[in-house]
Amino acid sequence: MSNYARLSYLVLSFLLVQSCKPQDSENTLVFNDELHSFANTKEVHTTHLNWDAAIDFDRKQVSGTATWNFVNDSNARYIHFDTYDLTIKKVKVNNKESQYFLSPMLEEYGSGLSIPIQQGDTVVSIEYFTGPQATALQWLKPEQTAGKQLPYMFTQCESIHARSLLPCQDLPSNRITYEAKLQVPKGMLAVMSAKNPIEKNKEGIYTYQMEIPVPTYLIALAVGDIEYKAIDERSGVYTEPSMLDAAWKELSDIPMMMTAAEKLGGPYRWGKYDVLIAPPSFPIGGMENPRLTFATPTIIAGDKSLVSLIAHEMAHSWSGNLVTNARWDDLWLNEGFTTYFERRIMESISGKSYTEMLWELGYQDMQSDFKDMGLNGEDTRLKVNLKKRNPGDAFSNIPYEKGAIFLRMLEEQTGREKFDAFMNAYFSEHAFKPTTTEQCLAFMDRNLFNGDSNRRNALKVREWIYETGLPDNCPKINPERFVLVDQQRALLESGAPVSTLNTMGWTTHEWLQFLRKMPRPTKMEWMTNLDQRFQLTKSTNSEIADEWFKLSIASNYKEAFDEMEIFLSQVGRKKFLEPLYMEMKKTPENLKMAQRIFAKYRNNYHPQTASKIEKILNAK
Ligand SMILES: [Zn+2]
Repeated sequence: MSNYARLSYLVLSFLLVQSCKPQDSENTLVFNDELHSFANTKEVHTTHLNWDAAIDFDRKQVSGTATWNFVNDSNARYIHFDTYDLTIKKVKVNNKESQYFLSPMLEEYGSGLSIPIQQGDTVVSIEYFTGPQATALQWLKPEQTAGKQLPYMFTQCESIHARSLLPCQDLPSNRITYEAKLQVPKGMLAVMSAKNPIEKNKEGIYTYQMEIPVPTYLIALAVGDIEYKAIDERSGVYTEPSMLDAAWKELSDIPMMMTAAEKLGGPYRWGKYDVLIAPPSFPIGGMENPRLTFATPTIIAGDKSLVSLIAHEMAHSWSGNLVTNARWDDLWLNEGFTTYFERRIMESISGKSYTEMLWELGYQDMQSDFKDMGLNGEDTRLKVNLKKRNPGDAFSNIPYEKGAIFLRMLEEQTGREKFDAFMNAYFSEHAFKPTTTEQCLAFMDRNLFNGDSNRRNALKVREWIYETGLPDNCPKINPERFVLVDQQRALLESGAPVSTLNTMGWTTHEWLQFLRKMPRPTKMEWMTNLDQRFQLTKSTNSEIADEWFKLSIASNYKEAFDEMEIFLSQVGRKKFLEPLYMEMKKTPENLKMAQRIFAKYRNNYHPQTASKIEKILNAK
């Protein structure tokens, strides 16, 4: 066992709590603060999960039995699992009841569950139920759903939240297959990141198989009034009945996206590719759960202008789900490759001038993070240091956008043909394997630079990965379509009336560029006239609405505040919520408004999002 940072308390203090056996000095249960896990996968690792559980909406509880097959490579005497706020009822090893030890709760990381095993043991089953603090679970009341009749529940396990759903070895480097049998209330359908049912049955009992090995952060579950509509033989949409047709129309380009993706990444290996459009309070844009992307309904704009998010989640079928970051500090391997891949899919289906806008908006997001973190901020490195830190801290725009533009630089410098061959080989060679930054760089050396280290050094590869800030060979992005937008804004600023602005043919992205670059504060007269002409306060496009509300706060345009409050009460996507609360925090009067709105609607937000916003509002 290398790299295992031992915390001082070890196991000594708590073995007696759950065990009638005296303390065992051979128990190696420790928390690894670089890997954020108690699991001892280097000695003994789980390979398959059989999960039998019931979903209880009244108690907001998942209860059942997780039966794990494991391989004991080193004659280990204990197998260690991660748990978070789980109550363990009974443990059996090879079908015989066993004792177990549960360490005290470590804030944010949970408790280690240690179970004694003997040579020849291969199966452990753990009967348990989830707790009220489960960070993976969000329980929605009927009024928080689109249909407003039945409650809803969904999970979000990335990065270390699967342990609050079931006891598991919760590390991205360990892969497992799984099968499940779930009991849900009648009238509901449950879907997982697995082979899924496509219609409800009377009993509310469903079964699932995921026979392709995945890391535990890709276990996923959603339960509610969910229906399915196929797009073609391998793709379709799951969502609440009232959203089904709109979602199906918006996502009808999925087969075309898939063709473009396979051209770059090689064959899609997961069988079906379906999308679950979650209720509005879904905390993130999308989650690449294998076979079943979970996505926010805020991408349903009516004109397919926000579907690049689906391209992103689809691209994860290669970068992330197939080739997985070995540790969370290698996150850029998942997100940078995926963001680059997403842009290539979009270029293929929407053209270069369209995709340049996506690159530019992403670049602006990255610049705004550089501004917040400082150009020399530790977390502006692609390979971040997460020792003693929650992996959630790694999810800024840096791994996504700095990672993507680094790959774009490599593509421009080595030529698309060579770069594409490298990508394709990278995915097939590392398929189903955890991959570190160092393994990726070594592969790049061999396959992109043909062992020529001068070439690699000239492109500043190590500076891109290991240093802070942005190297000076970063590609320049200057989308023609934004030049036209900037001209219109300049006209406005030089005195032209709002009524003369030419916005014909603008998509969401042109509007974002226009609003982001407006002076802050913007003159009240312009705000009023822009709103009257373009109905921005009432925009049903969540990206545009969010940008407009930010500008409205900064300009103290109070006419938008009631609609903004409705938006904040319904939408749970962190990307929209956090900047709005941050903007409101800037003046005492608006801070009061932020506190009032947050107090009123915090229960509508995902627990992870609510705690982040609380931190924002309480920070000095
Ligand atoms: Zn992603």
